[in-house]
Amino acid sequence: ENQFQSSSTIAAIVTPVGGPPGAVGIVRLSGDKAVEVAGRVFRSAKRRRKEEESDCSEDSWRPRSHFVEYGVVVDSKGSVVDEVLAVPMLAPRSYTREDVIELQCHGSEVCLRRVLRACVDAGARLAEPGEFTLRAFLNGRLDLTQAENVEKLISAKSSAAADAALEGIQGGFSSLVKSLRAQCIELLTEIEARLDFDDEMPPLDTNLVISKIKKMSEDVESALDTANYDKLLQTGLQVAIIGRPNVGKSSLLNAWSKSERAIVTEVAGTTRDVVEARVERSETAAKLADVIIMAVNAVEGWTEEDTELLHKIQSDKPMILVMNKIDCATPEQLEDKKEEAFHRSVFTSAVTGQGIEELEEAILEILERLREAIKDELPIDFWTIELREAALALAQISGQDVSEEVLSSIFAKFCIGK
Ligand code: GDP
Ligand code: ZN
Repeated sequence: ENQFQSSSTIAAIVTPVGGPPGAVGIVRLSGDKAVEVAGRVFRSAKRRRKEEESDCSEDSWRPRSHFVEYGVVVDSKGSVVDEVLAVPMLAPRSYTREDVIELQCHGSEVCLRRVLRACVDAGARLAEPGEFTLRAFLNGRLDLTQAENVEKLISAKSSAAADAALEGIQGGFSSLVKSLRAQCIELLTEIEARLDFDDEMPPLDTNLVISKIKKMSEDVESALDTANYDKLLQTGLQVAIIGRPNVGKSSLLNAWSKSERAIVTEVAGTTRDVVEARVERSETAAKLADVIIMAVNAVEGWTEEDTELLHKIQSDKPMILVMNKIDCATPEQLEDKKEEAFHRSVFTSAVTGQGIEELEEAILEILERLREAIKDELPIDFWTIELREAALALAQISGQDVSEEVLSSIFAKFCIGK
């Protein structure tokens, strides 16, 4: 079955499973037959009472949109499998703009799986990853950038990343894209009209066209700024700690993780991802990192081996020199031996925690520099870009004109239930 044409009713557990159980878990149904399917498995307490009083059974469940009903879910044999709240959200007032029924179950995986099974036995099909959001997109509830932001919001690692994604869902970026596309087409039309009916039209105001394109190019530039910034937020900063054995890399990492200060909580985009590399793996680690911390033993000072290691990694990434074990070093050993290659040097003791805060500051400073660099690296030569291509590309971003390939690649990243 091709998920892009499918009109069947889909079901999935939309809350996490596999970890410790939550108090409540949700099975979601969406599609034309969501009410019918739910009606087969859900027995509302209210309806049961009515049936008992009137001694006749109503043939179908007619939920009122956005009114919660309490009841039970029964399997195909009529056995009760869980006690639930049913939340009906009827088309078009739902996430997918289809009829949606959410069954709030007890959070254990067993309950959730039995309820899901009951829904499938009653005629629903298991949802593909991202299929709810795909339907929301196909039904015009979300555009593509909004849909992508749903995925970003779910996987956001910092509150700044979450805020950026929320803004995306609310459509700031996609309305910019749509407006840029409309402007492209307007300009195209003006230019093409002159090519076709040259003599019947007033001459083209070239300056006006140029100034319009310039304005658009500025808008694109600022959108790209945001996008690059988002990317940094989304992925966080990769930090590699390299150094000879026993200089204290693991200990530094521990001391640092314990401090859990600015680096993870307050400052956006510093979702820390630190790898520790012993000498033989240092090259790879350095290649993958945004920032390299090279640790040396302050007591021994800078050694021949350290020079070799530095040559080996040959990196143009920002680097910080950490002189560790200062608690054991004499004052003479603590001269600032800053090497050319390093952005900064910091004295630390992984044992006492001294200097850890300074190390964090050094990294934040680099983060700021990286952000500035991203801004400066955007010489967008809009003049050479054909407007038609631009319009097409813009349309793809907002999903006004989009290939199945693009759709698949975006929605495949979602997990099931989203
Ligand atoms: P790695 O091989 O670079 O990861 O080094 P470790 O973190 O495993 O540390 C090697 C040894 O040095 C361990 O016994 C640590 O307790 C000790 N060590 C690490 N950092 C310090 C420090 O700042 N001061 C002191 N006195 N000992 C440290
Ligand atoms: Zn280690």
